[in-house]
Amino acid sequence: MKTYKIPVCNGGENIVHDSYFDITNPANGDIVSRIPKMTEGHVDRAVSAATGAMAGTDWAHDGVLRAKVMLQWADKLEENIAPIARQLTLENGKLIGEATYEVSSQVGVIRYNAGLARTVSGRSHSLGRDSFAVVAREPMGVIAVISPWNWPVTLMIRDLAPALAAGNAALVKPASQTAGVSLDVLRLLLEETDIPPGIVHPITGSGRSAGQAMVVHPGIDMIAFTGDCSTGRNIMRDASPTLKKVALELGGKSPMVVCADADLDKAVPTLVSAIFTTTSGQICTAPSRLLVERSIEDELCRRLKEAIATIRIGDGLDRASQMGPLTTRDQYEKVLKFTEMGHREGHLVAGGEPLPEDLPAKGNFVAPVAFANLPNDSSLDREEIFGPVLIIKAFEGDDEAIALANDTEFGLASAVFTENVHRAWRISRAIKAGTVWVNTYNRFYPEVEVGGYKQSGIGRMAGLDGLHEFTQTKFINFDSIPPQG
Ligand code: NAD
Repeated sequence: MKTYKIPVCNGGENIVHDSYFDITNPANGDIVSRIPKMTEGHVDRAVSAATGAMAGTDWAHDGVLRAKVMLQWADKLEENIAPIARQLTLENGKLIGEATYEVSSQVGVIRYNAGLARTVSGRSHSLGRDSFAVVAREPMGVIAVISPWNWPVTLMIRDLAPALAAGNAALVKPASQTAGVSLDVLRLLLEETDIPPGIVHPITGSGRSAGQAMVVHPGIDMIAFTGDCSTGRNIMRDASPTLKKVALELGGKSPMVVCADADLDKAVPTLVSAIFTTTSGQICTAPSRLLVERSIEDELCRRLKEAIATIRIGDGLDRASQMGPLTTRDQYEKVLKFTEMGHREGHLVAGGEPLPEDLPAKGNFVAPVAFANLPNDSSLDREEIFGPVLIIKAFEGDDEAIALANDTEFGLASAVFTENVHRAWRISRAIKAGTVWVNTYNRFYPEVEVGGYKQSGIGRMAGLDGLHEFTQTKFINFDSIPPQG
């Protein structure tokens, strides 16, 4: 068990805390980390320090300094991929291969944003012989980054890196379930780089106290939140008295459309990975609704059944495992509840096999399942489950595929599998979602914006728009008429 302290940079004030919370390993229930529990008072002090650092250092004005610090951070992260990935698996339960990918991929994301730090630029306009204007791009100020537990390293860095590149200070509140690994990553930034004191503050503690304190704090200028839709709604409501900017990356119920001419050798393994084995289905973009053209439904379901039957469930640290446990006990109970509902309301198409007997009783292991023939208003088909639970529906023709794909309050991600480029374009253009993958899934790049349509979010992360989310523009107008006389 590892007991954490809150990292501070050289010259920063040490943080006093008197209580802790524990993180348990989802694979066996053992306590793996002990984390300081921070409160409203810590948030208040961090906001004052961040505001002071924005005024008292060159951070907001010096893109060269920001790029240097971020490149140092990326280098340190690259040197520490293996221990951080191990801690990620211990706290989250995900497969060690996925954890290693998660940590290593963020090295490139930080480096990409380090490049952007030197290119934060506005525009100028000549508005007549005597009038000239500059539209300057300035940082928002102090940002609250609030992140979830499913991809905790990725989703913290996805917001923090552009926030820093744009010249902001930040309070960073990771999800409690994965706070240890998040502190490991933040420690590298705070203790191993030349970041000025006061620019970044880790805040560990519950969403309802420490998180909420940031949302209502008048000294915070923007909330960058990734998490559940209902939390996002609460944050938007509670941020309104101080009229803060909010960027919300929320949940999904994403469709994967598989047309009759699709390459099933590609579609089926991609589906199995994206809804079952990647993070055990606990990924916001998971294709939890499979829409399959009726003429290939039987063939696809047969292949799916075969593929699910071979998934090896076990501890994420065991390299032979192909699907780990769910991260939290709440999530485990929720998935079991929806699985029972699926048996009651629909027809089990694939999965649901008994679990191996040697799995620890305290592990949050569940069997992957795929159901069909559910009533249209079933909450199984409407709500985000966030686990290895797939719903299958058949369609005939593009119009029905599009109607079914859009029959949801969410709009985060989607996919189309077809060898016909015209169908691919038609369906991609018509789907109301922030991402459409064609013949692939869950591909992310630092250069490319992601975000939600409809109730899946507000704003965009990654890419240039992701940087611009953390800036505001200022119009400065020069009147160049010379003084009279
Ligand atoms: P969550 O909303 O419960 O928690 C997310 C974060 O918010 C945590 O740090 C939590 O402590 C904090 N929080 C909770 N209540 C708060 C409050 N009142 N004020 C301030 N902060 C508060 O979400 P989760 O269970 O950690 O993550 C799963 C959800 O995240 C799923 O819905 C998933 O789809 C979504 N998600 C979305 C994306 C995306 O990019 N759109 C990515 C990953 C996960």
